[in-house]
Amino acid sequence: MNSPGLVEIAVFAPLNRTFTYQWPEWLGEARLGMRVCVPFGRSRRSGVVWETTITRADNTLEFKSVLDRTDAHPLYDGRRMQWLKRACCYYVAAPGECAETAFAWAGTEEKRRWHCADVAAFALMDKELAQAFSHRKTLSTTTLRKKLPTAGLYHRLRQAAEAGHLVEALNRNKKEGIKKVPFLSEAVPEQLFPAQQQALDEINHTSGFSPFLLFGCTGSGKTEVYLRAARQRVDAGEQVLILVPEIGLTPQWLARLTTRFNRVAVWHSGLSDTMRLQVRQDLSDIEVLVGTRSALFLPLPRCSMIVVDEEHDTSFKQQHGMHYHARDMAVLLAQELDIPVILGSATPSLESWRQAGDGRYQLLELPERIAPHPAPAVETVDMRSIETVLSDPMLALLQDTKERGLQSILYLNRRGYAPALMCTACGDVPECPACTFRLTLHRQKRILRCHGCGFARPAPLICEHCGEDALLPLGEGTEKVEEQLAALLPGLRMARLDRDAVRSETQLIRVLKDFASGHLDCLVGTQMLVKGHHFPNVVLVGVVNADLGLGLPDFRAGERWWQQITQVVGRTGRGKHPGRIMVQTRNPGASWLSRIGDAQARDTLDTELSLRKTLDYPPFARWVRIVFSATRSASAMQMAERVAEACIAYLPDIVQCTGPMPCAIEKIAMRYRFELILRDATRKHLPWKLAPLLLRITAFPGVRMRVDVDPMDMM
Ligand code: ADP
Ligand code: ZN
Repeated sequence: MNSPGLVEIAVFAPLNRTFTYQWPEWLGEARLGMRVCVPFGRSRRSGVVWETTITRADNTLEFKSVLDRTDAHPLYDGRRMQWLKRACCYYVAAPGECAETAFAWAGTEEKRRWHCADVAAFALMDKELAQAFSHRKTLSTTTLRKKLPTAGLYHRLRQAAEAGHLVEALNRNKKEGIKKVPFLSEAVPEQLFPAQQQALDEINHTSGFSPFLLFGCTGSGKTEVYLRAARQRVDAGEQVLILVPEIGLTPQWLARLTTRFNRVAVWHSGLSDTMRLQVRQDLSDIEVLVGTRSALFLPLPRCSMIVVDEEHDTSFKQQHGMHYHARDMAVLLAQELDIPVILGSATPSLESWRQAGDGRYQLLELPERIAPHPAPAVETVDMRSIETVLSDPMLALLQDTKERGLQSILYLNRRGYAPALMCTACGDVPECPACTFRLTLHRQKRILRCHGCGFARPAPLICEHCGEDALLPLGEGTEKVEEQLAALLPGLRMARLDRDAVRSETQLIRVLKDFASGHLDCLVGTQMLVKGHHFPNVVLVGVVNADLGLGLPDFRAGERWWQQITQVVGRTGRGKHPGRIMVQTRNPGASWLSRIGDAQARDTLDTELSLRKTLDYPPFARWVRIVFSATRSASAMQMAERVAEACIAYLPDIVQCTGPMPCAIEKIAMRYRFELILRDATRKHLPWKLAPLLLRITAFPGVRMRVDVDPMDMM
């Protein structure tokens, strides 16, 4: 029977269950999706009301009382709560961790500042609270907590805010707004091309849940389709959410959006508290919200379409806490809200390609580039007998491009100066003390840095092992390319674009601006410069080392390599002038090389997909990867063995369990890592059957267990 007065709370902690509490009447009505404060062990914790109708056979048990509620209204309505619970189930996540991820946008209570305009009027409602404001009109919650009883304080603040006596104060010293980037905006095309029009018509004519895969080659005008579809929604008074894989893409998107829409908002992890508060307060006024994966959780009240641009990008997968995939959660949300969702890419993921092939996603194609010239052929340079980082043909082409007043992009997906430093006398290579990684040399800062855990130390001048002055940087990173270019083509104006050189949005905007306005001839960079950028004067894309990224112990390595290279070469020849592509490789016969470029996309996708089918790999099978890590290798291994046994005993025969075995990266940040891979060729059992089993497992002391459903990272 239903037990009145009891609620289930998802307490913000990585615990595989919810907890029952008593709901005191003075807190008003308990509703799903409200944040609360509860006593937990010897401390207080935040959490979310996860369930309100509790059935208990035994009503004699005593439960602790909820202490306070943080929200006047539920943060999510029933549909979004339903969505969150489905995701929580699917990713076998702890409810508290799931809720904490989802509601992070709402901010922590303690940081809030409250302003009271009329203390006397407020005193009629809540004398004690009003008095606190008699000296200073603006107070933070933390300050108030020192003056007033803690229990119920948040609730009182909310009631006061509801009644209009308090308003949440913006930090007015810092007046911030969206950074305007007019140099990145483009003229609005007057007319769509027929393929664009057809795609737009399909999107505009749907109602209810309809997933689309917009498969358009690089520079085919996908963005224009999204923007016009968004226009129609906004004109009808509705809202549109656009997800992009990386913060680096938001300036360009803002440039496009702000010329067409009045109320555009942006959301990503780099926003200041003030900007966050503004977005929170404006939620219902926003027309278009663009952001990285966390933007998915902002509850736009009239959201009627979701766009996931560059849907293949693995940055959409969260790699800590709840391991969710923002693209897949976007589709799930669209289903729950009964609205269309558009996944767009020139190089779709095999997951989405399969869905389109099976007719579950409607395929929309833009097969041609807007630019009036055919896609350039790939020119390869055999690097086997060449010692330098940049070959003569590459240098000549860079120089020639500059002399014509045009621009180039040099791509190398490796930061730093060199991925390792070796002593040529004794062969010693410094490694990270905490990870199974060689240390990368960053010459400008004179440090060795681990790209696994961030550990850094000064770079030695002589070998620490044998004392010889014989250290030699092995291989190359973007810093080295930059150095070589400066030495060999001194007249070339260039900048480097990677996470070391560009650390803030302001820096990024500056580099993009210099490039867009023609103050730079060449950009050297990693993945960061690949994504989505449109520079009409770029006519040369050079790939410094096309062999990087192939041959990794990850079955998606080929797919990912192809996506990256196709995206980067797609940056050339997007304007008036035809482009060229030059690729340096030590493996000119490799079959993947012939797959570069848009023309081969369909073929590549089909071939790779049928290979996966033969092997029973994702997206045909569903995989769950469980990683166990501990500072003591034996504990991690033992727990992995125990869980493997439990899985074999518990899951149906059809689910195969591989492992435990050491992860490809055996150690990160002093923790030894082991993995189990569960494979369900039917896709029927996993992940759902796993949850009850995992609930029963108690972690071994010191061992961390991470469940990753649909793992993107197999290292
Ligand atoms: P994609 O996102 O597919 O890589 P973009 O949307 O960046 O391609 O489009 C490439 C360029 O073509 C942009 O400068 C865009 O303004 C332009 N463009 C798009 N559609 C049209 C059109 N119908 N007419 C003229 N130019 C267009
Ligand atoms: Zn490390």
